[in-house]
Amino acid sequence: MKKIEKAKLNDLLARLAEASTLYLPVRKGGKVNFAKWTKDEEYCADELKTVKSAKDVFFPQSENIVSFKRESSKITILPKELPTDRTVIFGVRACDAKSFDILDSVFMSEPADSFYTARRNSAVIITTACSTPEETCFCGVFGIDPANPGADIQTWFVGEELFWEALSEKGKALTEELSDMLSDADEKEVEDEKSRISEITKQLPLNGLSLENFGGDKTNELFDAAQWEKLSQSCIGCGTCTFVCPTCQCYDIRDYDTGNDIRRYRCWDSCMYSDFTMCAHGTNRPTQLQRFRQRFMHKLVYFPANNNGEFSCVGCGRCVSSCPISMNIAKVIKSFGGDNK
Ligand code: SF4
Ligand code: SF4
Repeated sequence: MKKIEKAKLNDLLARLAEASTLYLPVRKGGKVNFAKWTKDEEYCADELKTVKSAKDVFFPQSENIVSFKRESSKITILPKELPTDRTVIFGVRACDAKSFDILDSVFMSEPADSFYTARRNSAVIITTACSTPEETCFCGVFGIDPANPGADIQTWFVGEELFWEALSEKGKALTEELSDMLSDADEKEVEDEKSRISEITKQLPLNGLSLENFGGDKTNELFDAAQWEKLSQSCIGCGTCTFVCPTCQCYDIRDYDTGNDIRRYRCWDSCMYSDFTMCAHGTNRPTQLQRFRQRFMHKLVYFPANNNGEFSCVGCGRCVSSCPISMNIAKVIKSFGGDNK
């Protein structure tokens, strides 16, 4: 275990940014999100949840993946280079750290997504324990511990110090690079903070949700359930829940003619949109009920069916606070008998 005074944190961030591209939560346009850090940016250490999750770093909202140049009848393919420079993501919360494991099983299983994989392999993730979990948080339901957020390095803010524990080989190597800035600390110094966080977590209103009625074997039982109609009735299909969600991974690929070249880009899409499954014959999910059901069945039934029981939700609560009609996965779980309280 290591530590550094909070007053010296900016020096540490500057050092990290010298040797890597550093992402952390910063305020832009009044909202806090993960962005590239420069000395002019203030690290928003007290912000529990960024509006969007940290998934943008590995799976950007929009990115060019290849370009084509057309000269008379000749077409030249201009591939985009894969990112290889080291990236450090600082201040990731436990829920977002867990979401990377879920995204890995989607993007890094064969055939692997080369852009995601290159970014992921060159990244070091530094998590920060949640000193003030909020009422919308329910990561504990998915076995996530906000007091021990994991990843390559985990950190805790306690008093006027930041405590630092390297967990992976990558994390240990980075800690060694920073050894002149970090001093030795005793694990006991963060025990009280961990206990305090655990006590808050236990008392959160959504902490008692039960997932016993969900899982990979529940397709037949849940697919035609009457609850979907009432739950989906007022959904306006805005897609907000999918864009703020750390584990949603739907995307579209389109070509854009700039006049000089053709750019093929990929951008986030949403299973809540009517044209998402549009095929030549029409769409596979013509009603909002079907689209709504797809999102939640995927997270709570289909994904665990194909991923050793792992759910595709990390209980971050972003959908709880951002849906304009106050619908969310916690209400879905409750409506199928998952409200333990
Ligand atoms: S559940 Fe809410 S956030 Fe999601 S698409 Fe429907 S209205 Fe929008
Ligand atoms: S479904 Fe909601 S609570 Fe679950 S990970 Fe996505 S945004 Fe977070």
